[in-house]
Amino acid sequence: MKSNNFVSNFGSKVFSDDVMKAMLPDDTYNALINTVKSGKELDISVANTVANAMKDWALEKGATHYSHWFQPLTGITAEKHDSFLSSDKDGKPVIEFSGKCLIKGEPDASSFPSGGLRATFEARGYTAWDPTSYAFIKDNTLCIPTVFCSHGGEALDQKTPLLRSMELISEQALRVLKLFGKEATRVNTTVGAEQEYFLIDRELYNKRTDLLFCGRTLFGAKPPKGQELDDHYFGAIKPRIISFMKELDEELWSMGVFAKTEHNEAAPAQHELAPIYTMANIACDHNQLIMETMRNVAHRHGLVCLLHEKPFAGFNGSGKHNNWSLFTDTGFNLLNPGKSPAENTQFLLFLSAVIKSVDEYQSLLRIAVAGAGNDHRLGAAEAPPAIISIFLGDELTEIIESIINDTHYQKAQKTNLEIGVNALPNIPKETTDRNRTSPFAFTGNKFEFRMVGSSQSIAITNTMLNTIVADALKTFADHLEACPEEDFKKNVTALIKETLSKHKRILFNGDGYSEEWKKEAVSRGLLNLESTVDALPHFLDNENINLLAKYGILKESEIHSHYEIMMETYNKTVNIECMTMLDMIMKDILPSVSKYSTKLSEAIINKQKALPSLQCLFEKETLEKLSNLLDEIYMLYSELKNESENVPFGKSSLEIGIHMKEKILPLMSKLRKSVDEAQLYVSTDYWPYPNYTDLIYKI
Ligand code: ADP
Ligand code: MG
Repeated sequence: MKSNNFVSNFGSKVFSDDVMKAMLPDDTYNALINTVKSGKELDISVANTVANAMKDWALEKGATHYSHWFQPLTGITAEKHDSFLSSDKDGKPVIEFSGKCLIKGEPDASSFPSGGLRATFEARGYTAWDPTSYAFIKDNTLCIPTVFCSHGGEALDQKTPLLRSMELISEQALRVLKLFGKEATRVNTTVGAEQEYFLIDRELYNKRTDLLFCGRTLFGAKPPKGQELDDHYFGAIKPRIISFMKELDEELWSMGVFAKTEHNEAAPAQHELAPIYTMANIACDHNQLIMETMRNVAHRHGLVCLLHEKPFAGFNGSGKHNNWSLFTDTGFNLLNPGKSPAENTQFLLFLSAVIKSVDEYQSLLRIAVAGAGNDHRLGAAEAPPAIISIFLGDELTEIIESIINDTHYQKAQKTNLEIGVNALPNIPKETTDRNRTSPFAFTGNKFEFRMVGSSQSIAITNTMLNTIVADALKTFADHLEACPEEDFKKNVTALIKETLSKHKRILFNGDGYSEEWKKEAVSRGLLNLESTVDALPHFLDNENINLLAKYGILKESEIHSHYEIMMETYNKTVNIECMTMLDMIMKDILPSVSKYSTKLSEAIINKQKALPSLQCLFEKETLEKLSNLLDEIYMLYSELKNESENVPFGKSSLEIGIHMKEKILPLMSKLRKSVDEAQLYVSTDYWPYPNYTDLIYKI
């Protein structure tokens, strides 16, 4: 692709609205659009025509296969490729793609996690075309975005609940807007997910068992230079990385992803890509495509893309900032403070809905980002803490305080700030974006949720956000609809004031990393769910089950299944890390340290034989240090091995999780500390793995 025609190549691999308009007969196109709008089932004759056009278009673009592309509960995407090839009755090859194949697939799904929803004997789930998301070509395969369900209709994927939640919030937001006399037929959740990642050299990566199996280093002494100079953030990008980014952009653009901002991040070898925001379901698909394309393009450049939340101890981990807002189909951002008193009232009501819902359902947001990888990040004084709070910035906070206390707000008119009478001052974006320690920050016209882990799907996060805010909006709409119309202004004002007064404990503008905040948060009654094992059981709290089930976002059985899968994934992840650590210690680390120690002792013997007066200080002291460490490592190894054999497999996933968190992980930390110390005394020639200097700096 030439750089000057990149705009015309944008979306060249997408079966977009324009392509459909051009390729489909008018009545088919209209029938399809109506189906998308109404959410009803697609007529098979329409599907046949669409499938045929899709196939012709895909063949022209060089595709040979098609695949239903879906997002099972593993958090990544799944695809099964079928070629367009069929044989006719005479055994001759024909090219074929029917409406039936487009609408529905039945992958043998027994190996996808279902968390007990689907017994293996009834393994077949089915995939169903999601026509709200365009089909696209990836690696010569026509990918058809689909949802993935069990035959009983339960969601086995992350997309279905998200789509359900988008419907819900649209419905409730429209009710509120109607009270303000606003015309709109749809409210869309918009999302822009900023993706952080690391790039390292593939040859070095291949030499590290921990990276291969766990995606993160389990060992590694801190190199002499870390990120203390802050010289990587926004720094000049190395040529090898530039060529990676260029190819990544081009590939993403061709698939219709609005890749926009690319820069170096805080840690050396860490980078970020931010696309332009779009509708939540598309943003979710696109984020999956971004992660996958990053991995593939990196491979072609002799690199490996690490999406783990904490690949290197002592360096910043990677997250994914989920920017979230609500737009009417008439193009109005509901989180934009307005210019007139009426618009401001509406803004304050939507803002109150977010504040109320985040306070009431802190645990659901924490659960959405739970996972073994993200546990290393949250609360580690570099990412938002595990405590959920909202940052509004000074200006908006003052406004809210003046509303709650009926007091003077200086920057507005020199009168009490009266909702619906005074216009709010312009709230400049810059003053709202300064606090990077907040997990949930208002940034001028959207909220930025910063707790999502870099490898996680944004589907659950946005499902939860949409649902909890929709619930608050529903409460508001129920209340206001029941009040006499002439008292609307009075009632809205009272409602905003009451909501803000009741939920102000969730607002916090200070340093989220500080120890004082942890204490203060406890005294405010906020949750501090430090690890996945602390957070996940809250999924099964009555209030959470009731909320999700009430709106049909997740049925009770689906919640249990999500919970089981998340817990099991945590347990399996920690177990793999533990096994990898034991393996590396016994096969590589102990033998290497022992070999180097032997080398030192031989040197001492030989040197003193040659010249008995020699002190051999370096050899002797290092030998002593290393021999002690060798014993220490071996003892800790034995302890960890023992604990790994005591994991209560067969018991509940929570019991296993508690063992992982309380027994396995602390021992792994201790072991790492001793090994990292030993590394400082062993000659580089003898250390069995590329060190942090090689991995992070040699690109
Ligand atoms: P930064 O956070 O680096 O200052 P921005 O705030 O401009 O950058 O944008 C970060 C991300 O937020 C981008 O993906 C952008 O498209 C997205 N974004 C901007 N406005 C909205 C919105 N109204 N709704 C959702 N996402 C948005
Ligand atoms: Mg941002």
